[in-house]
Amino acid sequence: MLIVGPPGAGKGTQAKLIAETFGIPAISTGDIFRDNIKNGTELGKQVQSIVSTGSYVPDSLTNEIVRDRLLQDDAVAGFLLDGYPRTTEQVAELDRILDESGAGLDAVVLLVADTDEVVERLLKRAVEQGREDDTEDVIRHRQDVYLEQTEPVIGLYRDRGLVAEIDGLGRVDEVAERVTAALADRGIVPVGSDAV
Ligand code: ADP
Repeated sequence: MLIVGPPGAGKGTQAKLIAETFGIPAISTGDIFRDNIKNGTELGKQVQSIVSTGSYVPDSLTNEIVRDRLLQDDAVAGFLLDGYPRTTEQVAELDRILDESGAGLDAVVLLVADTDEVVERLLKRAVEQGREDDTEDVIRHRQDVYLEQTEPVIGLYRDRGLVAEIDGLGRVDEVAERVTAALADRGIVPVGSDAV
């Protein structure tokens, strides 16, 4: 599965809950980049300035990282990608990776929230977590990049009938409930669960 939506919609929070429910890893490209920056790795040095301005890391680099990660043992039975694919070229790469392993996507969870609300959330997170890309200018830039580069990605998955659109406003548990219900509507339930 994938989870998509504008910066600040709550993808990371919901991704963790979905991953727990389904017993699959939540794989966040943003987290992978931040971990590498924090640990001063070669990759971290390469992407630091890009991530801090809110632009996208080049597809070639991002694709390679995701390909490696999806080949790890814990992702074989299923995974939830958070923050990838974000460009149409990344969609093409994910299609190739899945084709090669004979896997397919079950659903794309689209979390929606309006711009004012997400900017407010991100500014609050800036105070709480001190994320370098959570300043107002960078937040605005991330929203613009999202609209320009990632909206078309959602269109592609809509055409494939995979998108489950979820209202991201409200308490975390309310949103989580909506996600679970929307997935169940599509016949996607945790292994061992009776609800079909
Ligand atoms: P947000 O949900 O606020 O957009 P993320 O944690 O998902 O934040 O991503 C943080 C940053 O990491 C992005 O602004 C971008 O610089 C980089 N990044 C994450 N995923 C990708 C991707 N799929 N392609 C290119 N850059 C990415």
